[in-house]
Amino acid sequence: MMADSPRQRVVIVGGGTAGWMTAAALAKLLGGRCDIRLVESAEIGIVGVGEATLPHIRAFNERLGIREADFMAWTRGTFKLGIEFRDWGRVGDSYVHPFGTFGRGHGQVDFHHYWTRLKMAGVDVPPLEEFSFACMLARLNRFDVPSTDPQSLASTFGYAYQFDATLFAPYLRSLAENLGVRRSEGLVVGVTRDGESGDIASITLRDGEVIEGDLFVDCSGFRSMLLGGALEEPFQDWSHWLPADRAMAMPCRTMTDVTPYTSAIAMPAGWRWRIPLQHRTGNGYVYSSAFLSDDKAAEALEAAVEGDPIAPPRPLRFRAGRRERSWVGNCVAIGLASGFLEPLESTSIYLVQAAITALIELFPEKQVSRVDRDEFNRLIDLEYDRIRDFLILHYHATTRDDSPFWDYVRTMPIPDSLAEKMELFRRRGRVVKYREGVFLDASWIAVYVGQGIVPEGYDPRAEAADAAGLIAGMRTLHGDIRAAVSAMPAYLDYIRRHCAMADAA
Ligand SMILES: Cc1cc2nc3c(=O)[nH]c(=O)nc-3n(C[C@H](O)[C@H](O)[C@H](O)COP(=O)(O)OP(=O)(O)OC[C@H]3O[C@@H](n4cnc5c(N)ncnc54)[C@H](O)[C@@H]3O)c2cc1C
Repeated sequence: MMADSPRQRVVIVGGGTAGWMTAAALAKLLGGRCDIRLVESAEIGIVGVGEATLPHIRAFNERLGIREADFMAWTRGTFKLGIEFRDWGRVGDSYVHPFGTFGRGHGQVDFHHYWTRLKMAGVDVPPLEEFSFACMLARLNRFDVPSTDPQSLASTFGYAYQFDATLFAPYLRSLAENLGVRRSEGLVVGVTRDGESGDIASITLRDGEVIEGDLFVDCSGFRSMLLGGALEEPFQDWSHWLPADRAMAMPCRTMTDVTPYTSAIAMPAGWRWRIPLQHRTGNGYVYSSAFLSDDKAAEALEAAVEGDPIAPPRPLRFRAGRRERSWVGNCVAIGLASGFLEPLESTSIYLVQAAITALIELFPEKQVSRVDRDEFNRLIDLEYDRIRDFLILHYHATTRDDSPFWDYVRTMPIPDSLAEKMELFRRRGRVVKYREGVFLDASWIAVYVGQGIVPEGYDPRAEAADAAGLIAGMRTLHGDIRAAVSAMPAYLDYIRRHCAMADAA
């Protein structure tokens, strides 16, 4: 950006997680360049779910100068080492998608190729997850922050947060307001567009106030008031691949172990989340209304949760997909206003963060440049498309045939992009490499293997290692991981010592 660029008037519609994350980040990182105004309506409220995150959120918080212990205590947060998937490939199965790698590779060859080679030779090797530091921490209910020494096995994992979604936006709000963001309470009832360019010129509040701006950020949630409403950007519907379109959410008291991971437990018409926080456990049943009624979903959730409910089941409706473009004219949609992919891999807040990062990197001069806008849309489309394929994999790679829902997802046609990825892994354990976007090799490997896709081959370079040495090396690694994990603090002890919520006993 030029040093003498005029200050931009940025108007954010919406004060949920997306709105306040955007406001805080713009104020912190581009505060000298723009005046930020945020409008939200208590009458409409926020979606109020979204409790599990990906490790990227730590970088977001760090950039904003947020202290971890303070943030965790305020949001009653817990640490997350990955997601446990129960009953997905087959009823009775359980695997963890960890935030971390598997074993140690050699040069260009990833560890799972050696593991596959030994398995194919009939050697009795432990399950792949026992070579993941994060999986073992999760299984043994232990936690410490990763080592900064790259030689240490304890450097091979990452972590994210689970927090109370209703407390995150207010936390960011106080930060953003301290950085100069102006907030207005009010209902947006009108949008005025420039007759020539078609850009948004102003929004009108119910009390008659008109707010003009140069850049409008639509964080209005599923309503997508500016991008979908005023600008009529079409919605790409992906519900034929991701048929879940409802959730029933119901928090409960914590009566069982507080685990350092989110659980995603498959159900007859979808799956159920379990997210243990410091003061309660979040639960919800994500399901397809084509296969289950709301009443039956509420009944099934009430029967399944492991503690006394704190509130009655709350229904939520959504549709999988995204707006064809997230940035049109001078309007950028961030969060649910841009699109939604169900919360199976906790990706929505990550998508908010990815959009904020791209917006900051491509922040407009006085006029929005077409190439900047196209680049933003390319990046966001890529993120959505990758996550879409990853989510479909969980449903499609199953042998479950015990309900019409599982029959549908097991046999549905899938995107070519995913079919090719699955075939590559099945044939020789190869994972398609990405330069940009979320979910790198270890994530795909965890889910392929966890869902029962066993490679029929491996990287030929894995043949070079001497078999006896390989077996001995694996045994040593297996023992070292277990010993190092066992020496780490019990998970709840760590939380109590480092970031207990203010009113904790
Ligand atoms: C069932 C479910 C589970 C989820 N779980 C996860 C998860 O585990 N992890 C994750 O990362 N994400 C999850 N998400 C997604 C996550 O909740 C959202 O991405 C996140 O909360 C951001 O929402 P938002 O700010 O875009 O929208 P909202 O929270 O809906 O906020 C919209 C804002 O716009 C305002 N607004 C709307 N219309 C107007 C108007 N006319 N005038 C003024 N203001 C207006 C509202 O008042 C509100 O402030 C989940 C979503 C669902 C549905």
